[in-house]
Amino acid sequence: MEPGGQLTTTTEVDNFPGYPDGIDGPAMMVDLQKQAERFGTEVRIGMVTAVKFATEVGGIHTAVVDGKTTIEANTIIISTGATAKYLNIPSEQRLRGGGVSACAVCDGFFYRGQDVAIVGAGDTAAEEATYLSNICKSVTMLVRRDTMRASKAMQHRVLNTKNIEVLFNTEVDEVLGEQVVEGLRVVNNRTNDKKEIAITGLFIAIGHKPNTDIFKGQLHMDDAGYLITKPDSTKTELPGVFACGDVQDKIYRQAVTAAGSGCMAALDAERYLAEIGVVEEVIAGDYTV
Ligand code: NDP
Repeated sequence: MEPGGQLTTTTEVDNFPGYPDGIDGPAMMVDLQKQAERFGTEVRIGMVTAVKFATEVGGIHTAVVDGKTTIEANTIIISTGATAKYLNIPSEQRLRGGGVSACAVCDGFFYRGQDVAIVGAGDTAAEEATYLSNICKSVTMLVRRDTMRASKAMQHRVLNTKNIEVLFNTEVDEVLGEQVVEGLRVVNNRTNDKKEIAITGLFIAIGHKPNTDIFKGQLHMDDAGYLITKPDSTKTELPGVFACGDVQDKIYRQAVTAAGSGCMAALDAERYLAEIGVVEEVIAGDYTV
């Protein structure tokens, strides 16, 4: 349960427009909730454990909350987000927020001029390594195999950036430091040789898992489980069911892009309600059970 999503697990947010001095992630989420409530949004905390979507225009969708309360609605906007994957070793988990981050674009700024490392070998890791190389003194990229998964163009960029060093066949053995990251012990998985690297920031870029398990079999998803929306909209293939934010975006994944697609979903849902002629009831607030 992370009411407010991934931003509640981060510290300072520096790249959301309107906050010239940055803002604490959880504080920003409290502000967003207050703002939505000012317009009459009713916020209920709960875990949706099952959904049953209608397939016909104007049909009633149902969502079961915490296995016991059933909510019926003409529209549902899915914004369940994605969860960053971590290595799940104890020292990494202990130092999350103390130098371990899963988002270089969000947190890279804090490590300006410092030595950092990044784990992963896909497009995200390659893109983030390049991003970090422009801010940090040095970037050590840890690739667990002898080859990278990232596109050839991204690999070329990484391998030709002076202050990025790529260590192949290398994994994290332990993150060093008590309160904050002070270094990394890495292990070569071919030779078992271990060595320590002095760094202050560790970025994990080994992929995300979209939170879509409960929609399996009801909505189209790609191979990784991201919901597929129609081009230039937040519409899924089912009438009245919309998806926005990281649950349908594996490329941009920023708070501001998620907020923008949330706005698109609200507009799409409002139009749909007008089309099926229930806008009056929505305004009266008497259509939920
Ligand atoms: P990917 O799943 O593509 O890559 C994950 C990487 O993390 C792999 O290299 C994998 O290694 C590595 N990895 C996984 N688990 C571990 C572990 N425990 N220890 C060490 N390494 C690990 O995820 P991405 O987030 O990079 O990309 C997701 C999708 O988004 C892809 O389709 C990508 O192409 C796309 N994307 C496109 C962008 C663009 O077009 N600009 C930008 C960013 C993403 P291994 O290779 O050994 O499996």
